[in-house]
Amino acid sequence: MNEKFLAEISDKSSGERFSAFPEGYVKGRTKYVIITGSVMSGIGKGIFSSALGKTLKDRGMNVAPIKVEAYLNIDSGTLSPYRHGEVFVLDDGTETDMDLGSYERFLDTGLSKDNFTTHGQIYKRIIEKERAGFYQGRDVQYIPHVTGETKLVLRNLAMKSKADIVLIEIGGTVGDYENLFAMESVRELIYEEGRENACLVNLTYILEPHHLGEFKSKAAQLGLRHLMSLGLQPDVVVCRSERPITGNVKEKISMNANVPIEMVFNTYDVGNIYELPLFYREQGLDSAILGTINLDRKFPVNGSKSLKDWTARNIVEPEKEITIGVAGKYTGTSDTYISIVKALEHCSAALKVKVGIKWIETTDLEKDLGKAEHEMSGIDGIIIPGGFGTRGVEGKIACAGHARKSGIPFLGICYGFQMAVIEFARNVCGIKGANTEEVKKDAENNVICILPEQEEVEGLGGTLRLGGFDIKVKKGTLAHELYGKKEKVRERFRHRFNVNTKFIDILEKSGMVFSGMAPSKRIMQILELPGHPFFIGTQYHAEFTSRPLKPNPVYLGLVKAALKRKYGK
Ligand code: GLN
Repeated sequence: MNEKFLAEISDKSSGERFSAFPEGYVKGRTKYVIITGSVMSGIGKGIFSSALGKTLKDRGMNVAPIKVEAYLNIDSGTLSPYRHGEVFVLDDGTETDMDLGSYERFLDTGLSKDNFTTHGQIYKRIIEKERAGFYQGRDVQYIPHVTGETKLVLRNLAMKSKADIVLIEIGGTVGDYENLFAMESVRELIYEEGRENACLVNLTYILEPHHLGEFKSKAAQLGLRHLMSLGLQPDVVVCRSERPITGNVKEKISMNANVPIEMVFNTYDVGNIYELPLFYREQGLDSAILGTINLDRKFPVNGSKSLKDWTARNIVEPEKEITIGVAGKYTGTSDTYISIVKALEHCSAALKVKVGIKWIETTDLEKDLGKAEHEMSGIDGIIIPGGFGTRGVEGKIACAGHARKSGIPFLGICYGFQMAVIEFARNVCGIKGANTEEVKKDAENNVICILPEQEEVEGLGGTLRLGGFDIKVKKGTLAHELYGKKEKVRERFRHRFNVNTKFIDILEKSGMVFSGMAPSKRIMQILELPGHPFFIGTQYHAEFTSRPLKPNPVYLGLVKAALKRKYGK
């Protein structure tokens, strides 16, 4: 174990073993852009960082993002979607914060565990090292060991990705007690790398209280002062506000934070996030940042034709309008289903159609299952998203049933796929009490049961069937058509249960087609109902691979079918 840890650091002779430099690391080869937030959370730091990343990438740079979360969880897999939004799954199975989805979509690139870390991961590694005797008798300290381990993670990403820029997003807000060590790590990183190799950006918030009708920058000033009291001098300040700020706000920020006024920027509500990369470009934000790290001339703008084109293709004037129902149990916060919302946006741009979402709370439906039909009147298609546990299940089954019977285009995602199987088993195959083991552990007719490899699994963290897997698509099916006649596709999964193989025969005999399967295991991965205008379920989360200008085929199929239902073509 000691050897394993030793292999990755450059200074093996150190008696204290806190070298924060990976083997072979060359300073200045990769530059760092570090993004922190002040005043408050929820101001869109993730969107800002990913849109900025897109602007930088558009100049021909290789940008590797990383989100540093301050929490002690090892990953986001065990977090409640109510509190933290969706759990996003990477191809390698890492369960991350939803910001990683935003990075993948804006940068149009696949990310891995190297692009995401938490304090939990960092502490775990330190404790493993300590138990392995790695520190050679030294007392293990927050400084240099926690900060060192954090810097090692950041530099390892630089080494592995060979990026021109590592874009670091520090989770949380300046002043949070819990991200103090991330801040200190960043301070050390900037010092060690040299100011010409690292640019510190602070995204702050300018208040505009309604009762005053003017901008107030005091909270931002205090946030910036706090940042500076940590030894962190921002190079660039970006003021987030609802409306464009007035000039005097920039002056105040500039004077208070030692930042020249031309390095103070403003990002306000633009109505459409796809405008942001070009908006930053037009303000000169990317050039300002690159100027501080001497990359401005190395990567010139080249007229930004591609960014203009990208923006225009993502923001289109809709010619038609449809409504898609999303029937889940966390409908109070759309962040829970953010990738689904994004996947629909991608279809919207591709098909020039405005896609409205009607949230259907399935827990409410359980009191009166007949209400499903009423709630679904007026929608042109329905999605039953992923989910866990018992609450809302019967409501989802009722929605799947109504969609099946009334020809409403249907897309079941993961738990939604399983709900469609249960509904079909109960009402078409006549299997009494058909259910999932997740709801009724020992029921006789559990058409959905635990995956064989999951039977022995203990604990919750990182134990589901996770990440990208290949899917064998059956020729001549709807799925085959949707995926452009490809016979093998790859999508991302996050589940513990699957279709019980004992029931596959009867389901198929009654008309359900399993059009996608795992290549070498009997795991059903896509289902469909021929004869229905559009009824498809995927055991995977098709939304995780949808990208601007490259909508996921299953979502595209749903929106096309909804258009056909409403407009007849
Ligand atoms: N709860 C189901 C399972 O574990 C579905 C999971 C999901 O929808 N992501 O199999």
